[in-house]
Formats: sequence, C-alpha cells, structure tokens
Amino acid sequence: MSNIEVSPAEQRKKLKAVALLSGGLDSTLAVRMMLEQGVEVEAVAIKTPFCDFDCGKGCGHRVKEVAIDLQIPLKTVHFGEEYLRMLKRPKFGFGSGMNPCIDCRSMMYNAAKDHMKKIGADFIVTGEVLFQRPMSQNHRALNIIEKETGTQGKVLRPLSAKSLPMIEIENDGSIKRENLCNIVGRSRKNQLAMARKFGMEDPPNAAGGCLLTDPQFSMRIRDLMKYLDDPDKVPTLNDIELLKVGRHFRLSNVAKLIVGRNQNENYVMRSLALKDDIVIEAQEFPGPTCILRSKNYEYSLVEKSSRIVLRYSDSPSGRETNVKVTYRDQVSVISTIPMGNDELENLRI
Ligand code: SF4
Repeated sequence: MSNIEVSPAEQRKKLKAVALLSGGLDSTLAVRMMLEQGVEVEAVAIKTPFCDFDCGKGCGHRVKEVAIDLQIPLKTVHFGEEYLRMLKRPKFGFGSGMNPCIDCRSMMYNAAKDHMKKIGADFIVTGEVLFQRPMSQNHRALNIIEKETGTQGKVLRPLSAKSLPMIEIENDGSIKRENLCNIVGRSRKNQLAMARKFGMEDPPNAAGGCLLTDPQFSMRIRDLMKYLDDPDKVPTLNDIELLKVGRHFRLSNVAKLIVGRNQNENYVMRSLALKDDIVIEAQEFPGPTCILRSKNYEYSLVEKSSRIVLRYSDSPSGRETNVKVTYRDQVSVISTIPMGNDELENLRI
C-alpha cells in the first residue's frame, strides 16, 4: 500500500473548459486568464457562411495560430444550411443590419456545449465583454442566450465576470472572483494593458468582421430572401457565396445579374456558375464575367443583361457590339449597346 499523501488541491480534479475562440484579442485574453489559473482549455472556433474566416484577411489562419500559441487543442465547427435556416426567421430578430446576433450566439453556445459534454469539461469560456456589442452583449441578451441553450451557470466571461452573476464554478470556489476582471464597454484600453501584462508582443485585433453587419451586404441578403420563389425556401450556400462577389442587379422577381469587378472575381464567379446559369461576356472588348441567374430566360432578359455587361466592358458607349452568351455549353452571340447610367442605377441592389 502506498504511503504517498495526496493534498486536497491534488485531490480536486483539474478544471476543464471549452473556450469559444475567435482569434481576436478578447477571446485570446479570456483563454490566457484561464490557463494562468491552471484550467485545462480546449477551443472551439466557429465559421458561419458570413464571417471573414477564409476571406483572405487571414482570420481562419489566425485562430489556428492563436490556438498553437496558447498550446490548446482547436476544433473548428462550420455552420452551413442550418445557419441559413435560422437567418430566414431568427427568433430574436436582427441588429442594425441582417445580423441575428442572439440566435447566432445561441448556435455558437450550443456548439461549445456539445464539445463540453463530449470532452467532459466543466464550463464554457467566452471573450464576451459586457456592452461591447449592442445586440448580443448586454445582460438581457446574455440571459436569453443562456436560457435558449440551457447553459445557465455554465458560461464564464472572465473579462466582465465581476459585473455578471456568479456561475457554478465560482460558487463552489473552483475559480476565484478576485482573479477575474470587470471590463465593460467598447474601449480596448484595458484589454491592451492585459495583453502587455501577458507579454503578448503583437496582440491580435478585434475578431474578424461579420458580413451580416455590413449595410451593403445586408441589402443583398434582404433582396435574396425577398425574391426566393417559395417563402419556406432557404438560400443555398452557393447563393451566399455569389453575394460576396461582384455588382448585383435585380432584373425581375425571378432574375438577377452579377457582374465581376476584377479578374479574381471573374474567376470566382465562373467557379460558382451553376448548370442553369447563363454566363455573359463581351466578345469584342475586354470586360467582366457576368452570371444571369433566373427562373426563365426570355430574350428580353438576356438582352438587358448583355447591355449591362457591355456597360462594364471597354466597349464604346452608344456603339453596338457583340456579346457572348453561354448556356449549358451552347454559345450564342447577340449584338446590343451598353446600358445608360440612369437605367442601370434603377436595377442596382
Ligand atoms: S456579428 Fe455576426 S457572427 Fe457575430 S454574433 Fe452577430 S451575427 Fe453572429
């Protein structure tokens, strides 16, 4: 029989947490605070169809780098069609744009909760800062999100904890309130000071943007939702990817045209074109790749689209030139003149 004595601290199981990690400064600091207190942390990163995660700004890459730097495991959860279904009718509505933050955060909490159950963690950690974001970071919203996801008493927000009710692991003394912060509001001054204290030489910025808060993008989403042919239908992920590129024009209840703005977008658009889309390009002069997506393809619609295509090509205004129209590998050519600005602006989404 062993005579080794085990101290009460050793007897107590090491606390384990699941952190919602965005790669931004706040969630990074929240994890650091937990690690400093001896908590074992695993991270969950969420990718919605609308975050800048893989948009070229490097957020997706950054969250991986942050997790490596923190030396914690990272699991990435991709929200797809279920997110679009939620976006169609979010239970708690939208913020200033098409951002359904309360419903969105609820989905994130659920993903964290699932991982918490899977790995047997004790609680969830987030980098939320009270009153930093108007829709989802106030007492009412945080309560709703917890209630909706059954996570009451299980979510620690170390940056604002002293302004929030105690949670289970504080009540049982596992985490001490004096080791938590009382940061509220939008200023990043306190977080930057903490980053310095932790020796973070190059602290990350705020987390990557969400396209649903962008006014221009929100208009495109509203248009897409409004003209879905069936009220119960949900946009496809391809529809959403197409919203992220080009200039968009509403031609009729069932037809829209997307016009590439540069070579890279032209390339992306070609890769997003579906079998039933018409691809239109100027034939005689350099110009953009354009996709006409419609439920029917009357000649007048194709001709109108061709005039827009020419408007964005090097074709001289007022002069009739050829446009190449490709539908299911069949190429035809029509001849028309570029559209004038007034008509064009009436169609722009
Ligand atoms: S800003 Fe976008 S990603 Fe963030 S909670 Fe709101 S909807 Fe979700």
